[in-house]
Amino acid sequence: MNFDVVVAGGSVAGLLCAREIASGGFSVLVIEEDYEIGTPEHCGGLVSMAGLEELGVIPFRKTFVHMIESAEITAPNGNSFTINSKKQKVVEINRRELDKQIAFQAQKNGAVIKVKTSFQEITDTGIRTNEEKIDCKIFVDARGVSSLVHKDRTGILLSAQYEIYADWIKKGKVEVLFDQEKYPGFFAWIIPSNDGKGKVGVAGRGINIAGTLDKILEEKGNYSTIRKIFAPIWIKGPIAKFVEGKTVIVGDAAGQAKPTTAGGIFTSGMGGVYAGHAIVKFLKTNNRLDLEQYQKKWTDRFGEEFAKQLFARKILERVDNKTINNLFESITPGIIKEISETDDFDFHTSSIIKLLGVKGSIKTVQTLIGGELKKLLS
Ligand SMILES: Cc1cc2nc3c(=O)[nH]c(=O)nc-3n(C[C@H](O)[C@H](O)[C@H](O)COP(=O)(O)OP(=O)(O)OC[C@H]3O[C@@H](n4cnc5c(N)ncnc54)[C@H](O)[C@@H]3O)c2cc1C
Repeated sequence: MNFDVVVAGGSVAGLLCAREIASGGFSVLVIEEDYEIGTPEHCGGLVSMAGLEELGVIPFRKTFVHMIESAEITAPNGNSFTINSKKQKVVEINRRELDKQIAFQAQKNGAVIKVKTSFQEITDTGIRTNEEKIDCKIFVDARGVSSLVHKDRTGILLSAQYEIYADWIKKGKVEVLFDQEKYPGFFAWIIPSNDGKGKVGVAGRGINIAGTLDKILEEKGNYSTIRKIFAPIWIKGPIAKFVEGKTVIVGDAAGQAKPTTAGGIFTSGMGGVYAGHAIVKFLKTNNRLDLEQYQKKWTDRFGEEFAKQLFARKILERVDNKTINNLFESITPGIIKEISETDDFDFHTSSIIKLLGVKGSIKTVQTLIGGELKKLLS
């Protein structure tokens, strides 16, 4: 078998990359090791409409679930504030359907997709799968965080997310819970899918995530579990090189998920799109500089924001519950209004800066992380 490009990983980044390669007129095969595109789903499904549009996806009726209207953020002592997110146009989508929708786009452009086929190794002329050898000019690694496990474990946290039915879940309202003792360096989340159903998840450094999630749920009230997933997330930002020889790395495999939240539908997806464009150009010119434009393009778009998110993450790794509680106390209705009215879901460090009270009075945080804070602001 022979293709111009073989993509390993049939999820958002790999499929978008294949869609662009096929639309550029080159032959491309996507191999997915699971038995179905979009399954098993390991995602909360939160994404901005602007992000989806840029990815070139207008959600089908089946893909679109509902608009998120607010986000309630809770401190360890139970104090909370609520951001009105209507202007940010954030939606909860059905990831299983989103991935299938992109697979459909890729196939319409001419890509070939095969499930239950796993990438095994690179060969002199292409790659080897569990079934056969396939020749190709370019190999795209879109295998998600699993590709990073062998390279660098230090940026990986384990997450747990349960789909549940519970009367206390309210449509349109996302909840984020901070507690550095219970979920150090990360947070717990509740993402509704409708009234009475949604996804509850947690990640944190060195914790028993299943036990922690069970406890969160017990404290919340009655519920039934419909589905459980445990998946690694990557929080260390982009890897050093997106292109190595004939291998092009895209999406979570290249560390393109946000270091703050590990959300990557948009940023990892754009990695796939940019890589697709660069590969098409390279296949036409055979000039490596064209291939390497991919990393430049992604970095020009997201590099600065990701660097700031990494600093924000450093701060979160260092502050204790008392500092977070103090921080919450200093958040004024004016700051919340400003975030609600002007901020961007995909480039959210401006919200973090406002919440850190840079314009206000958070002496504790400023003393603790003064140097970091200056970098975040610069
Ligand atoms: C619990 C959780 C909740 C999340 N919530 C959100 C959210 O609300 N919003 C958001 O934007 N992001 C969220 N994310 C992140 C988001 O899911 C990822 O950023 C996104 O899926 C990355 O896409 P990808 O294509 O790079 O990789 P993945 O989606 O990880 O896909 C990799 C694919 O490669 C396949 N694969 C692996 N190895 C091989 C192999 N050897 N051969 C062939 N195929 C292989 C896998 O089966 C998989 O289909 C969440 C992640 C987790 C874990």
